[in-house]
Amino acid sequence: MVGITAYDSLLQEYESWWQDGGYAISDAVDRSRTPWLRMFDTAGVRVDEILYSPEYWRMLKKGYGLGVVWRAFKDESLLPSLFLIYITSFYDCGLSCPYTVSLSTALPISKYGSPEIKDRFLPHLLREDDRAWQGATWMTEIKGGSDLGANVETVAVPDGAAWRLTGGKYFASNAGAELAVVAARPKGAPLGVRGLALFVLPRRRQDGQLNYTIRRLKDKIATRSVPLVKSNCAKVKPTSWEGPRTVSTSSWRF
Ligand SMILES: Cc1cc2nc3c(=O)[nH]c(=O)nc-3n(C[C@H](O)[C@H](O)[C@H](O)COP(=O)(O)OP(=O)(O)OC[C@H]3O[C@@H](n4cnc5c(N)ncnc54)[C@H](O)[C@@H]3O)c2cc1C
Repeated sequence: MVGITAYDSLLQEYESWWQDGGYAISDAVDRSRTPWLRMFDTAGVRVDEILYSPEYWRMLKKGYGLGVVWRAFKDESLLPSLFLIYITSFYDCGLSCPYTVSLSTALPISKYGSPEIKDRFLPHLLREDDRAWQGATWMTEIKGGSDLGANVETVAVPDGAAWRLTGGKYFASNAGAELAVVAARPKGAPLGVRGLALFVLPRRRQDGQLNYTIRRLKDKIATRSVPLVKSNCAKVKPTSWEGPRTVSTSSWRF
């Protein structure tokens, strides 16, 4: 068990970074513009990219680089992540969202993932440089979020080595992350929460194709004045080309 003193110098470095310039960036980014969704590239190809300012990425990557995700695994303790997220909350509470959901993606993969899933995805999430993948946790659907057993209608069917998920997610924070953990019901599984399963959903398939599509970013009112919450908690509803409530995915069950 490690205590806060084990992280004194790390936390001081992080806090100084915010005071020496990070907080000013947060202030500026908050006043510039909300993130926006680019659905098509100039050739008309569907890309579904969420665009942020470069300064936003600078802030975001600072926490990942210092270890908001990877240190939990290296030190086998959640304390460094929780300390870093605690400090983040004083300067830009919106950033706590992507950090938390990225951690909440890596942890279940490490706990429940098959060796193949771990080998394939964990090294990307646990990179110690500024190229770490981000994660997301998508459970809620349009019928509601409290009772997932009653409200998740996304269905999973085996498709070769992977699973095909058909459905739509609502309130999907950190959209644009490279990887999401998604709740769905394998076809034929019992009703209720015990029939649900978790799947790993990469943003892109191995051939580079988009693995899900984004219908829109949600407009928000209540959190617009909070620095970057709107940036970090972008909301999407994935759908397919064919019509609403369908997402064609290639995903892997835990
Ligand atoms: C900023 C933000 C970010 C979010 N990001 C994500 C995300 O990344 N991924 C994700 O999956 N979801 C996300 N959500 C959705 C969140 O998980 C849901 O809002 C939450 O689970 C509640 O669901 P709901 O809003 O549909 O409310 P409901 O489930 O409709 O509940 C409405 C009200 O009824 C109450 N209630 C519900 N059921 C019962 C019951 N059986 N008994 C008594 N009271 C009950 C609730 O307490 C609540 O007060 C996000 C939400 C917000 C606001």
